[in-house]
Amino acid sequence: MQWNFKNIDDEGEFNLEHFFWKCTACGTCKSGYTYGPPPTFRRICPQGEKFGFEGFFASKGKAALARWMTSDPILKNKFEWTPEYLNTLYTCIGCGGCQNQCLVDFKPFIIETIEAMRAKAVEDGQGPLREHHILVTSMKNNDNPYTGPRGIRAKWMKGLDVKDINKESSPVLYYAGCTPAYNAPVRQLAVKTVSVFNKIGVDFGALGKKEVCCGSTVLRLGARDEFKRIAEKNLEQFKYLHDERGVDTIVSSCAGCYRSLLEDYAISEEYKDYMDGIKVMHTADYLYKLYKEGKFEPKNEIKMKVTYHDPCHLGRHIKEWIIDWDGSKQWKGSYMDLVDKGTFESPRELIKAIPGIQFEEMRRNQNNSYCCGSGGGVKTAFPDWAAENAALRVEEAEQTGAEKIITCCPFCHANLNDGAKVKNSALKTIDLVELLDEAL
Ligand code: SF4
Ligand code: SF4
Repeated sequence: MQWNFKNIDDEGEFNLEHFFWKCTACGTCKSGYTYGPPPTFRRICPQGEKFGFEGFFASKGKAALARWMTSDPILKNKFEWTPEYLNTLYTCIGCGGCQNQCLVDFKPFIIETIEAMRAKAVEDGQGPLREHHILVTSMKNNDNPYTGPRGIRAKWMKGLDVKDINKESSPVLYYAGCTPAYNAPVRQLAVKTVSVFNKIGVDFGALGKKEVCCGSTVLRLGARDEFKRIAEKNLEQFKYLHDERGVDTIVSSCAGCYRSLLEDYAISEEYKDYMDGIKVMHTADYLYKLYKEGKFEPKNEIKMKVTYHDPCHLGRHIKEWIIDWDGSKQWKGSYMDLVDKGTFESPRELIKAIPGIQFEEMRRNQNNSYCCGSGGGVKTAFPDWAAENAALRVEEAEQTGAEKIITCCPFCHANLNDGAKVKNSALKTIDLVELLDEAL
């Protein structure tokens, strides 16, 4: 397959270099703004929050690093990979908090630039970090990043009423993902998704042992070859399931898988051919659609105050950028606007539909949500810092008076619970489907 990834040193009129030189070093990307009333601004970059100095701060720092790496007219040819440089690159969570703030032409290309720098590190044999190698090797050997053998992938399904889609047809494929399959503390996410689907009568199936990782984790690290291998395997499998088993919807309950299947796979030239007739949906959107159609109603009262944590890959990462490529409206390559396709409303509306539930927002929410700190390989290489960062989010959640944090991503879920341990907080995180299961 042909994959159209952008490289940090691509030639051509609209290469990444064209965009990262547009950073004005204004520093806006340090803070998340809401225009109010009343207007507020709060810190948004977990990396800057931890390391606290300009070179690391948000996307401004990454633009400077990219310039050094490529064609800085003063430092040209002086670039070298150093441990400090690699640490800076790999302590970015890729959360996109900075991207939400930036207003110049660099904005749509911030995350792509950071990931292209990582891909170059891998290409030059310098990246990812030593701590990440076990993850990439596991992907090669086991088709998952958790070092778990292929044979135990379907263990979470044992005793559950789930159709084997390899043998029986179904319009819906539930793509559980690696985290509930291999990370016992969040296994309930998959178990409860099955329970909710069965309670409301969804005709669905799962791949069991034949499911493989979406590849998001290796892509975020810059290991593009490994991502391509696994993504192609998935695309072929999805096409087979559509043609032979009648699958027209893939439902994922992991924000990372969802973003990958929807956006990262679309970088492939053949994406439309392979995914023709298949829609990718997150569980929150899928269930909200059914709820709106009157297919179910949460009836059991749950007297509890809750708040909601927006996973970055489900929320602010999902955007369509409007760029004036031909210069007919502003200037060539200028950032014009965006279409926000993030999942913000569905989980909130489902939570509020449960009788007895009291819902309160955290101060940073939706596009200005504060990342839990586990993405981009940070949880693997810097687990203590990832949990420390999550503790900041738990503290923010505590300020709402909530008894539980609800989220829609097993990665955030696990890390927020680690964050609660760091600060000895009793505030636990559960998934939306766990709450819904109780309400049905
Ligand atoms: S990345 Fe954007 S917001 Fe950040 S300093 Fe550069 S221009 Fe300003
Ligand atoms: S992606 Fe997140 S962690 Fe990385 S620079 Fe931007 S705000 Fe900071």
